[in-house]
Amino acid sequence: MLYKGSCHCGKVAFEVEGELGGAVRCNCSICQRKGALLWAVPHPSMRLVAWGDDLGRYIFGKGVIAHRFCRTCGIHPFAEDVSQSGERTAYINVNCLDDVDLTAVEVFEFDGRSA
Ligand SMILES: [Zn+2]
Repeated sequence: MLYKGSCHCGKVAFEVEGELGGAVRCNCSICQRKGALLWAVPHPSMRLVAWGDDLGRYIFGKGVIAHRFCRTCGIHPFAEDVSQSGERTAYINVNCLDDVDLTAVEVFEFDGRSA
């Protein structure tokens, strides 16, 4: 299934191909603050359709994940692995997808704070 997603203002927009079987709620220092619900997909399954100069990048800690955000509206639509080598993963913020019944999405807790 093809999902469409975006930030709030629409300057960052993307599509994701896959089956949304659930989402992860991570309690690490950034995911908890964002309130993100994450869906991990192979990076090639996600396609950016709009971004311009508005797609910011925030990297902290071990520096393995780039947290991408819209510089205009501040919403974090997705994150991605930093490494360009091997199989990359995109972590879609399910809250940013269109036409998804969030009450029907199974949520898995992940203890990222201890990872
Ligand atoms: Zn925006």
